[in-house]
Amino acid sequence: MIAVSRDVLTKTFRVLRTCGGGARECVAYWTGAADNDFVDCVEHPLHSSSEGGYNVEDRWLTEFWTSLGQSRRSIKAQIHSHPAAAFHSATDDDWPIVSQCGFVSIVIPNFALGAVSLDNAWIGRLRADGKWEQLPLATDVLMLS
Ligand SMILES: [Zn+2]
Repeated sequence: MIAVSRDVLTKTFRVLRTCGGGARECVAYWTGAADNDFVDCVEHPLHSSSEGGYNVEDRWLTEFWTSLGQSRRSIKAQIHSHPAAAFHSATDDDWPIVSQCGFVSIVIPNFALGAVSLDNAWIGRLRADGKWEQLPLATDVLMLS
């Protein structure tokens, strides 16, 4: 289970909305200390994006991995916006930032312009066989406080 505060969720929606401007996808990463499951930071990567996808800048990513390692932190989940319905595209399936069993991916519909909530989000967890399992409820994997 990942523990996330309402404050982090609100910040995440703000990032997705502001960057996406109702016209482009955006992505953020939830991070926290590597030795527990508490999310205390929203990272907004340098990325390009369009209405139908996003690309994180390679150099930013390399530096991000280095800084995570140095500060003993890890990525708990990736969260990105879609133009309309929330689902995992083939690209989303194939290119998560972390491809480790149990990793959580969240997709927010309508460029995150709706209510700050995970009720209409797509939430999935990476299985050991490399396939994504969609979870019916956010509370299956998240503790919102
Ligand atoms: Zn963005």
